[in-house]
Amino acid sequence: MGKSSSSQAVAASAPAAGAEPLAPVSERVVVPVVIDAPQYSGLKAALDYLSERPLLPGTLLRVPLGRREVLGVAWDARPGEGSAVPEGVMLREVAAVFDALPPLPAAWRELVDFAASYYQRSPGEVALAVLPPELRTLSATQLDRRLKRLRARLLPPSGEHSALPDPSAEQAQVLQALAGTAANASVTLLHGSTGSGKTEIYLREAQRVVEAGRQALVLVPEINLTPQLEERFLARFPGRRVVSLHSGLTPARRLKHWLMVLLGEADLVLGTRLAVFAPLPRLGLVIVDEEHDPSYKQQEGARYSARDLAVVRGRIEGVPVLLGSATPSLESWHNALPVAEGGAGRYARLTMAARIGGGVLPAVRLVDMSRLPKEVLRDSALSPALLGALRERLARGEQSLVLLNRRGYAPVLHCTECGWKSACAHCSAWRVFHKLDRTLRCHHCGLTERVPRACPDCGNADIQPTGRGTERLEEQLALALPGARVGRIDADTTRRSGALEAELARVHAGEVDVLVGTQMIAKGHDFRRMTLVAAVNPDAALFSSDFRAPERQFSLLMQAAGRAGRAAEQADRAEMWVQTWHPQHALYAALRTHDYAAFAQAQLAERRSAGLPPHTHLALLRADAREQAVAQAWLRVVSDEARELAEQHQVALYPPVPLSVQRVADMERAQLLVESASRPALQRFLAAWDATLRHKRPEQKGLLRWAVDVDPLAI
Ligand code: ADP
Ligand code: ZN
Ligand code: ZN
Repeated sequence: MGKSSSSQAVAASAPAAGAEPLAPVSERVVVPVVIDAPQYSGLKAALDYLSERPLLPGTLLRVPLGRREVLGVAWDARPGEGSAVPEGVMLREVAAVFDALPPLPAAWRELVDFAASYYQRSPGEVALAVLPPELRTLSATQLDRRLKRLRARLLPPSGEHSALPDPSAEQAQVLQALAGTAANASVTLLHGSTGSGKTEIYLREAQRVVEAGRQALVLVPEINLTPQLEERFLARFPGRRVVSLHSGLTPARRLKHWLMVLLGEADLVLGTRLAVFAPLPRLGLVIVDEEHDPSYKQQEGARYSARDLAVVRGRIEGVPVLLGSATPSLESWHNALPVAEGGAGRYARLTMAARIGGGVLPAVRLVDMSRLPKEVLRDSALSPALLGALRERLARGEQSLVLLNRRGYAPVLHCTECGWKSACAHCSAWRVFHKLDRTLRCHHCGLTERVPRACPDCGNADIQPTGRGTERLEEQLALALPGARVGRIDADTTRRSGALEAELARVHAGEVDVLVGTQMIAKGHDFRRMTLVAAVNPDAALFSSDFRAPERQFSLLMQAAGRAGRAAEQADRAEMWVQTWHPQHALYAALRTHDYAAFAQAQLAERRSAGLPPHTHLALLRADAREQAVAQAWLRVVSDEARELAEQHQVALYPPVPLSVQRVADMERAQLLVESASRPALQRFLAAWDATLRHKRPEQKGLLRWAVDVDPLAI
C-alpha cells in the first residue's frame, strides 16, 4: 500500500495535466502484461508496459495495442528479470488499472501458464479466453460501479437444509475412503453405475469442504442439459452461495458470477469446462462429473481438456480431485488401474456397483436386424418386436425413450432420375433435410436454403429423402403408435431458450409417452417413469475410422440404459433395446452384462497393440487454406524442417492428410499427426518445433491459419 501511494504522490506532483507524466524514470516500473493473441499471430510472451507504480501480478488492466486499447493481466516477471526500466527502449504506458478488483490468484496464473505451455499457446490467449467477455468492454469506472452494485445487493444467504438421505452401504464406504484423502492432492476415480448415487457423494463431499470454510468447484459437461442437477445443488446448499459459470449465461450475469467467485463470496461453483479456470481464492475440492464426456475438451482457440486441467489444478493447489463416471474415459481408467493390472496406478479407484434402492440395471435385448425381411424395414426404422415392446409400455402407462444420434428428417435428399444429392456448396458434406420448415441445412457451415421444388440438375420433381434422423423417426413413431404422445429433444427443438426445460418438464410430468432424441436425452436425467430405452441404429460407431468411436458409443448406450428403471418399483421390467446388424459384436456383449471393466480391458488391449492413447501420446498440427495442396504443402515443409528434432526427441511425424470432413465453409483442412511414447518427450518436441511453425508461417502463400491440438479427441 505504502509503495503505491508514494508513487501516486510522485505522479500527482508531475506538471500540467495533458502532458506526458514526468515522474522520475527511476520511479516507473516495467510490468509484463499478457493480452489476447492467438497462436498464429506469433506473439507468445508477455508484453512489457510502463507503469507509474508497481502492480501486483494478476492485476487486471487496460493497455494500448497498436491503435486499440485492450484488456490485459499483469503477469509474473520472467525469472531473472527485474522491473527496472531499460534504457533506450520505448515502452508504452498502462492505460488503466482495475484497482477495485483483487489480483487474480497466483494458483490461477500458474494454471494458465501450465495450460499455455502444455497446449502450445500464449498465456494471454488462455487467460483472456477464460475471463468473462464483458470485462473487455468495461472501463475501470464502469467496473467500479458494477462492483458497488454487486456488493450492495449481496443478500446474506438464507434457507433451510433439505433433509439428508442416509447413505447407502456403498456410499458410506466411498465417503469413508474419501475422508482419508481430504487433506491432500490425491485424485480419485469414482466408478459408479448410473443411479448408484454418485451425485449424492458429490453433494456430501462439497458440503464437507464448504463447512470447513473452503470452496468447492463442481464441473459438469453441459449445465443446460441437466437443469435438475443445478436444482439439486441449490436445494442442498440453501445457506450458501452457489453460482453457475458457463457460456449460456448472459454476459452481465457471467461477469457477476465470476466477480462473486473472485471476491470469495461464492461457496460453490457449478460450471462447464471454462469453470476449471474459476479464480477461487479458497479452493478445497474439485469434482468432475461425467469425467468421460467429450465436451470437456475445448474445440477451438486454446484446445484444453478441462478434465485434465482439473487434475493439474488439484496438484497446484494441493486439493483433492474427484472424477466420477459410470463409463470413465479409457485415459482415467488406465490411470486408476493398479500397476499390477497393467495400469498406471496414478489415481485411487472407488466403485459403486449397485443402484440406489436395490434396482437392477435394465435387461439388454439385441434385435438382429439382418434376420428381418427387407420389406419390413423399407418404410420404418423400427422392428416389429421393438414396436411391440413400445406398445406394451403405452398400455401400462409407462414411458419410453428412443435414441437416434442424428437430427433432422433425413441426412440427404436425392433425385430418383439423375442421382443429384443435396451437397453443400461450401463443404464436403451433404445438407440435411429438415421437413418442418422444408429446408436443407448444412450442419457444418450452417448454409440453409428452401428445399427445391424439383431437382436442380434435371428438373425431376421426385426428390426423395435417404436415411433418417430424429424428425423422421418422430413422424414414424406417431404413425405406428396411434394415440401416443411423442416428444422430441434435439438441438433443433431446443434452440429457443427455455425450450429444453419446458420439454423436460413435460416428460417428468408424464405428459410424454415416447421421447425421441439425440444424445441430449441420454445424459444425466433422472426420469422416474421410463421403463424402455431403445437405440435404433447404433452400428455406425463399430466401423468408424475414429479410434474413440467405440468408447463414445459404449458410454452413450450405458448412459441411455441408465435412464430406464430409475424408480425401484419398475426396475425389474426395465429394458434396453438395441437394433443391430452385428449382434455378435464385443461392444454389445459387454453392454448386455453392463460390464464396463471388460469393455475397457478389451479396448485398452486394442489400443496398446495399435499404439494409440493412453499408451501413446498424440498431437495434431492443423492447417487451413483455400486449397488443400497449400495446406498440405506447409505441413510438409514444417515436417521436413523438424526431421532431426523429431528423431532426437523420439517423436514420429506422419504424412499430412486431409481431415475426414475435408472442406468446411470453403476452407480446405489438413492435418499432420505427431506421436510419441512419452508425454514429456512430445512436450519438449512441440515446444522446440514452435519456433519453426512461427518462422515458416509467412513463407507459405495462401495459408490461412494453423493450430496445434495436444491430446486431440479425434484423429
Ligand atoms: P448417479 O449420479 O450415480 O446417477 P444419483 O445420485 O442421481 O445417482 O442417485 C440416483 C437417485 O437415488 C436419485 O434420485 C437420488 O436422489 C437417490 N439417492 C441417492 N442417494 C440416496 C440415498 N442414500 N438414499 C436415498 N436416495 C438416494
Ligand atoms: Zn435430377
Ligand atoms: Zn456447409
